[in-house]
Amino acid sequence: MFFFVAWGSKWKHKRVENGRSFRKLCPACRTYGDFQEVVPTRYFTLFWLPLFEIERKQPLLECSRCEEHFYMTEEEHRTPREAFFEEA
Ligand SMILES: [Zn+2]
Repeated sequence: MFFFVAWGSKWKHKRVENGRSFRKLCPACRTYGDFQEVVPTRYFTLFWLPLFEIERKQPLLECSRCEEHFYMTEEEHRTPREAFFEEA
């Protein structure tokens, strides 16, 4: 019998709406760029389509140029978001 696994899970970096953003030097691509707050989110997938969230990790900053991800510094973490109050 042919058995075909159609479900699984997948990590995506979900952009935080009205999240923190910073303009700074990227250690990876070495240019000044905009960093946007993203949340690593794991999705349940069926036939490779993400259906719903399973799990989230702490927010990271994503370089808009090279799309590399970095942990926030203490100071950045203390910077309030404009209109986003969801706490994990
Ligand atoms: Zn970069």
